[in-house]
Amino acid sequence: MALPLEKYLRVGKLPHIWCPGCGHGIITQAIIRAIDELGLDTQKTVVVSGIGCSSRAPGYMNFDTLHTTHGRAIAFATGIKMANPELKVIVITGDGDAAAIGGNHLIHAARRNIGLTVICFNNNIYGMTSGQYSPLTPTGSYASTAPYGMVERPFDLCELVKGAGGTFVARSTAYHARHLTNVIKDALKYDGFAFVDALSQCPTYFGRRNRLRTPMDMLNWMRDHAVSASSWEKMSPEEREGKFPIGVLVNQPSRELTKVYGEILAQARKEAGANA
Ligand code: SF4
Ligand code: MG
Repeated sequence: MALPLEKYLRVGKLPHIWCPGCGHGIITQAIIRAIDELGLDTQKTVVVSGIGCSSRAPGYMNFDTLHTTHGRAIAFATGIKMANPELKVIVITGDGDAAAIGGNHLIHAARRNIGLTVICFNNNIYGMTSGQYSPLTPTGSYASTAPYGMVERPFDLCELVKGAGGTFVARSTAYHARHLTNVIKDALKYDGFAFVDALSQCPTYFGRRNRLRTPMDMLNWMRDHAVSASSWEKMSPEEREGKFPIGVLVNQPSRELTKVYGEILAQARKEAGANA
């Protein structure tokens, strides 16, 4: 008997490449479950990714999918959305892919408010290439390229997207699987650029170097440090130290780019017709 979500998977591509205990499977399932619960038209849903462990997810998903080049998923997705605004375009990316080489694409997509749903599988590390530090690696954490501890300050991705003009910004974690699904549903329903920072665990390259030896240790860390967005608002700077907010952090609807562009196009065509 087929499992309830099996129709959304390319079963022939399994087993997946992820390590035992990796959080990426939980986040992939949350995306598929959100799509299922919203009843999205699978013929009008496109999933685009860049490069990295997270970006292998669309390969297992039974939609029109595009596995692109490093950091460029949002650029490809922008082209798809501009060419056919009817499509629901989902971008799956990682913290290295989105915030380092792809950082420019991320901030400009947020600024433009183009209708993409970007889900960042954020595990604080470059997993696929064996654990180099990323722009999300916390100060003092260890990585293959930071054997004495990370000396740089990390981005807060939600704050970065918000600062770039993002109108929908949310965060959840692999520990909060049901909450994550709901947040992704809100992002998918949003008419504009929607960004979800989905914290994931990489036990292979982040956990074992940072005294979080098992996947459960990493999930429990997420449980113990996450605070609901409503509680976060009431906390003092001292109380916020070492914690992070989850939930919808920004929801300020603004006109979506392809709709504005469509109106300009119609106007230009009308004027061209009048002058012909
Ligand atoms: Fe997951 Fe890390 Fe393994 Fe990549 S290296 S599949 S991120 S656990
Ligand atoms: Mg990563």
